[in-house]
Amino acid sequence: MTGAIFLRRNPLIAQTQEQTVSTGDTPFVPIEKIVSLCKRRGFVYPNSEIYGGVSGIYDFGPLGVELRNNIRRFWWWSMVQTNDNIVGIEGSIITHPRVWEASGHVENFVDRLVDCKNCKRRFRYDHLPEENVRQNKCPVCGGELTEPRKFNLMMETYIGMLEGERMKTYLRGEASQNIYLDYDNVLKSSRMAIPFGICQIGKAFRNEVTPGNFLFRQREFEQWDLQFFVHPSQMQQWFDYWKERRFEWYKSIINHKDRLRFRAHGPDELAHYAKQAFDIEYQTVLGWQEWEGIHWRQDWDLSRHSDYSGQDLSYTDPETKERYIPWIVETSGGVDRTFLNLLLDAYEEEPPSGKGKEGRTVLRLNPMFAPVKVAVLPLQKNKEELVTTAKELHNKLRRLMVSQYDDVANIGRRYRRQDEIGTPFCVTIDFTTLADQTVTVRDRDSMSQIRLHMNEVPAYLLERVR
Ligand code: ATP
Repeated sequence: MTGAIFLRRNPLIAQTQEQTVSTGDTPFVPIEKIVSLCKRRGFVYPNSEIYGGVSGIYDFGPLGVELRNNIRRFWWWSMVQTNDNIVGIEGSIITHPRVWEASGHVENFVDRLVDCKNCKRRFRYDHLPEENVRQNKCPVCGGELTEPRKFNLMMETYIGMLEGERMKTYLRGEASQNIYLDYDNVLKSSRMAIPFGICQIGKAFRNEVTPGNFLFRQREFEQWDLQFFVHPSQMQQWFDYWKERRFEWYKSIINHKDRLRFRAHGPDELAHYAKQAFDIEYQTVLGWQEWEGIHWRQDWDLSRHSDYSGQDLSYTDPETKERYIPWIVETSGGVDRTFLNLLLDAYEEEPPSGKGKEGRTVLRLNPMFAPVKVAVLPLQKNKEELVTTAKELHNKLRRLMVSQYDDVANIGRRYRRQDEIGTPFCVTIDFTTLADQTVTVRDRDSMSQIRLHMNEVPAYLLERVR
């Protein structure tokens, strides 16, 4: 959820975005390059494409689904599996409609929009440059703008079959509400005591009026949340702790460390209960953009759900017997923005290294995220012994990690194909293999090659891709 209860601030104007150039040594990657790679190599497809598509909704292809799973798995491992005081849940997309009244979404989850009377383009009011707001001018054609109108972002749906008995509810606008709903059940059914946290990864739905920039702003997307419950006197300490930890987490998964920063929310953005809030931002061709929000939610959520449901959600300290509504530190980020940012961070077009040499496109993804961990390549496909040996090794490796067998085209081409999808290692079976059981292991980033005995390959790879 945005820091101020529903104030949505974002300097990006999709319609007028110009491509910027990095101030560092590597230029920013245009989004179009990522869109094209994703479609061509099976990471992401437009949803319902044969019917003309639906804007802001995407499907993930064979490589995309592997990358997403790896991203989710790493978040879950570092947030849930490796912390004794954190557990996970998986809540449903549809909840009782009162949830969204209590949370304030029905009333306040709005974007303000203006239309240009001349060119008919539509803009989010909070995305307009200040000058255009002041002059009431369209940023594209200079035409006059209409008064801002409010649009609620919640997606409606109905439960039940019969007219009159159908109940209107919503596809969740943010995943985190399930955590507040299940908080008491988790407390009673697990051995958690404050301070403790609940994590969840799940889909959220927003009728974004200006979806765009590929996966950056979608109508159906996936969020990850930690809601960490604390005693009010420990709020600042835990807020600082999670703020730093989440920043370090993002830093650890990218190559361009200098493109990550905090942005403190200004007083106009802060919710009435929030002492402070920070966005972790990443810089791409779209400028500095939110990747994850760190929010001071105080006792707002549990108090509201206590009031609206009539259930007492206060906590009694087992030792002091003190009774209070726990305060909450929230860290809320997006699987899809992580997917997009990792690709933007990893994509590189290398020029030819010399005369007669070919350049290459390479995805320098951290090996743990790479959709394919290893490609097994027989040097020639018309030599039966090479093919048989390569297939045997591939069958052995694919039980341990995602392995791809490829014998189509010359070896250089095959290396390029794997570089483009971020495969960290290629193993080549050549004529020496038949004599001494050694294979060539090629590293994606340095393109250096070493020879290993075939039996050593699984352990060598596992150590580097897990
Ligand atoms: P923004 O200001 O960019 O609209 P937000 O502040 O509304 O984002 P939150 O409600 O805090 O976002 O959601 C938490 C995270 O969910 C965001 O940091 C982002 O990674 C992701 N997210 C939010 N909206 C979208 C969307 N429409 N498409 C993809 N990811 C999203």
